[in-house]
Amino acid sequence: MALFNRKDKYIRINPNRSVRQPKREVPEVPDELFAKCPSCKVMIYQKDLGVAKICPQCSYNFRISAQERLCITVDEGSFEELFTGIQTKNPLDFPNYEEKLRLTQEKTGLDEAVLTGRARIKGKETALAIMDSNFIMASMGTVVGEKLTRLFEYAISEKLPVVIFTASGGARMQEGIMSLMQMAKVSAAVKRHSNAGLFYLVVLTDPTTGGVTASFAMEGDIILAEPQTLIGFAGRRVIETTVRENLPDEFQKAEFLLDHGFVDAIVKRTELPETIATLLGFHGGC
Ligand SMILES: [Zn+2]
Repeated sequence: MALFNRKDKYIRINPNRSVRQPKREVPEVPDELFAKCPSCKVMIYQKDLGVAKICPQCSYNFRISAQERLCITVDEGSFEELFTGIQTKNPLDFPNYEEKLRLTQEKTGLDEAVLTGRARIKGKETALAIMDSNFIMASMGTVVGEKLTRLFEYAISEKLPVVIFTASGGARMQEGIMSLMQMAKVSAAVKRHSNAGLFYLVVLTDPTTGGVTASFAMEGDIILAEPQTLIGFAGRRVIETTVRENLPDEFQKAEFLLDHGFVDAIVKRTELPETIATLLGFHGGC
């Protein structure tokens, strides 16, 4: 029985002995070739997602960049970018913030988390903003607030409607209270635009949360959302811990918000340009 009574808990390996690992042949797959659907968890061949990046298995709308959104939304060659080159002054002297911004600008090709300009959608003129979650999770700092405020002011002077595709993780931590101030600043611009009798349309895209949801994302005359979009203010775990209740699975999804009256309609990504153009037409767009 001594055979089974091992003195050492673990097997010792002589450190002087070289152990030859059998060589495993790992097939090389380029990172960009497949994408895992966050909703149904199926690996999808990138080309099968199409230009609109929709999962063929479960119809989940993948997160897309501002440039990709522009390509599938506006009339070709109609976009004129406005309000570029605005730089944050790093009001809190947050360490490495400028470097982080510079690297993100290089990676995304954007100067900030929102792209602003003027465009035509199915022939309808509009002031347009697209937020991009690839840029520090589309967090709202002073530059995002300034670009959006200028867009509304431009729309008032040009008598244009405003269409915003929102996406955001919330206020930008690195700018502290200055980023929270943008909620009131942009909301004031929305109100002036509304007082001028002009139309404001919001399209909520995944994810729209925090201070953006608590301000201009919920102030549209009409609020649309893409299917399965995460929309909320505080995170799910924060709410569960605070109220000490388990929340339903679909909580903070676009479909849940539609049922509870916070969203006017859920529109498939491929049908958005047509729907937006129809709504702009109803509200006097030309
Ligand atoms: Zn899927």
